[in-house]
Amino acid sequence: MGSSQYSHLKQEEGKVALITGGASGIGATTARLFLKHGAKVVIADMQDELGHSLCKELDPQSTTFVHCDVSKETDVENAVNHVISMYGKLDIMYNNAGIPGESQYNILDNTQADFEQVIRVNLVGAFLGTKHAARVMIPARKGSIINTASVCSIMGGLAPPAYTSSKHAVVGLMKNAAVELGHFGIRVNCVSPYLVLTPMAKDYVKQYEEGTLKLYSNLKGDVLKPEGVAEVALFLGSDESKYVSGHNLVIDGGFSIVNSGFC
Ligand code: NAD
Repeated sequence: MGSSQYSHLKQEEGKVALITGGASGIGATTARLFLKHGAKVVIADMQDELGHSLCKELDPQSTTFVHCDVSKETDVENAVNHVISMYGKLDIMYNNAGIPGESQYNILDNTQADFEQVIRVNLVGAFLGTKHAARVMIPARKGSIINTASVCSIMGGLAPPAYTSSKHAVVGLMKNAAVELGHFGIRVNCVSPYLVLTPMAKDYVKQYEEGTLKLYSNLKGDVLKPEGVAEVALFLGSDESKYVSGHNLVIDGGFSIVNSGFC
């Protein structure tokens, strides 16, 4: 799915996207790709400095930053209102913000506070993003909502319990929303990446650089990069996928069908 294959995506021209967690990692890479395809992008994140400097670096004409903690409804509501006041519409809502949490894999070492915080950001954040996107997409009778889940949405034992639980639940949320919002021409899907070496995965980045972590690849030796996720988000956000809704699109090079744990 190389971006060059999408050069015919003229319909991407003029689309407006809101990307939560867009200041870093997968979200920032997706913002860059959407812009390349002619979309206007609003980045919503808690890292204000990073978000503002990314907008400046990308394209200040077509990118803006709005401060948003996705676990707070007023922030999400404001972010969507900001998009509407700037562009008059929202075509693509990418609920991508997420955190791994501080807890360990061992359930006994997990605290209730950390568990709840991960759920608040990863699940409640996706719910609020879906809700407020739907609020403005329903009258328009169109839109694409994309949630970043994870390969942890279909497997156990790869991440701490809160993270795994939150990502399974994001898929459930997506399925409900796809059924309900489909009546209004709104599509809802998830992308579920395998491990990507972003700031979130800093412990893995270290191990990878030290050579102690081998990343799974069944595909010509390639390891998954943020661009690999962004390309799929581009497909789901574009009219190329106009009949695709209710899917959890796993981006793992086949990892989940041949492995039960990290190799
Ligand atoms: P990242 O840390 O590089 O980016 C996450 C962004 O989310 C950051 O900019 C952060 O500031 C923002 N964020 C965190 N909490 C927020 C909040 N409450 N409100 C608004 N923004 C908030 O990580 P990433 O790897 O790009 O992660 C993006 C998404 O991809 C997450 O949902 C993550 O769970 C998912 N994911 C990541 C991997 C991986 O291996 N990196 C694998 C599968 C899924």
